[in-house]
Amino acid sequence: MDAGARKAWFVDTDADGNRQEREEAFDMLHVTPPQRAPRCVRESALANDAGWLDADPETLRHNRFENVFAIGDASGTGNAKTAAAVRKQAPVVAANLLATLDGKPMGGRYQGYGACPLTVEKGKVILAEFGYQGALQPSFPLDPTKARSSYWWLKAKAMPRIYFDLMLKGREWLTG
Ligand SMILES: Cc1cc2nc3c(=O)[nH]c(=O)nc-3n(C[C@H](O)[C@H](O)[C@H](O)COP(=O)(O)OP(=O)(O)OC[C@H]3O[C@@H](n4cnc5c(N)ncnc54)[C@H](O)[C@@H]3O)c2cc1C
Repeated sequence: MDAGARKAWFVDTDADGNRQEREEAFDMLHVTPPQRAPRCVRESALANDAGWLDADPETLRHNRFENVFAIGDASGTGNAKTAAAVRKQAPVVAANLLATLDGKPMGGRYQGYGACPLTVEKGKVILAEFGYQGALQPSFPLDPTKARSSYWWLKAKAMPRIYFDLMLKGREWLTG
């Protein structure tokens, strides 16, 4: 890309492997690399046709192997791939895995929750929390479409502590 000239060049590769360069002008550029599961999942019997772990979107149990559960970005479950999703998936997987080991029906259901704290200006964040089919799943009783300074505080001050001190150590309330 040439930031000064506000131009970017992309190489498109078609199904036959033919490559073609294309130039795009931009005001704001947001580029993401192709997303895929690690090879050990993508090229295994665990994968669905798209290469993600072939799991039921609600129970998170594998559709063909009942002793396999999905959690995190490798899951083929159609939710936004976020660490916030992992927070909500973890207790569902734990409950359903334990139920499976005990030969009981699985009670845990994941509704596709994911969250993206979007910084829209210095000091203001929109806390976009949504599940399958884009259904809003706000954690707080506030209009989830409004940018707020309280969510800026949450992202800047609270989330690092939630992440490092609680979530990674298995101590946060959702995993109770
Ligand atoms: C720039 C960026 C910003 C983000 N911001 C947010 C945010 O604000 N909020 C949020 O909730 N989420 C955010 N995310 C998403 C979040 O980081 C992921 O959803 C989360 O890390 C997924 O966790 P995971 O454990 O499933 O996968 P990963 O964190 O990708 O962990 C998978 C691990 O498996 C390892 N691995 C791969 N292959 C093998 C193998 N063969 N053997 C052994 N190990 C292997 C990898 O090295 C890696 O360490 C962001 C992601 C990016 C890239």
